[in-house]
Amino acid sequence: MWRSTRRSGRARPLEDTLSPQEKKAEFIQQEVAREVERLLRVIFGDRRKSGRLDLKAVEMVVRSALHQAGAAMLSKLLRFPVPKTGQRTVACACGQQAQYRELRSKPLLTAVGPAQVARASYLCPHCHTGRFPADVELDIERTEFSPGVRRVQAMVGHDAPFEHSRQQLQLLAGLEVTAKSVERVAEAIATR
Ligand SMILES: [Zn+2]
Repeated sequence: MWRSTRRSGRARPLEDTLSPQEKKAEFIQQEVAREVERLLRVIFGDRRKSGRLDLKAVEMVVRSALHQAGAAMLSKLLRFPVPKTGQRTVACACGQQAQYRELRSKPLLTAVGPAQVARASYLCPHCHTGRFPADVELDIERTEFSPGVRRVQAMVGHDAPFEHSRQQLQLLAGLEVTAKSVERVAEAIATR
């Protein structure tokens, strides 16, 4: 879709001329385009069969599919590279240097659904504290909820009971969370 005009003007294979960043963007666009095409086939097929368009069902399916494509895109963006040699230490709070260990991933619920973040982990040999500098940068330290999700959770979390909040999140944002997690996040934000 997006790419046809760009590709047509090139003599060499596109892959040869792209930076890693552009390749990533290219991949994401392909994923989204594929998801949209798949969805349109389902919707049109359904309409042919039933002779009508069930908008109430279709709009929810479209949102969920675009969310899935978005979450795949975020997981891609949140996959950090191994730090280069010479950049494998970070300052620790104890005054020593924490050393790079490995890339570690954790699940992250984002505004478009479940994604994964993979980032460098560091360990201080002196005080044995583990560090994830990327988590600080992304504002996802010690949480598996993205800043966007925490904002939504805090807003719906104000009205107890929490089961009601959970249903609100599902309908309004298409997010599947447990009532317990809504409670935890609302409490954490209230005490800040
Ligand atoms: Zn330390």
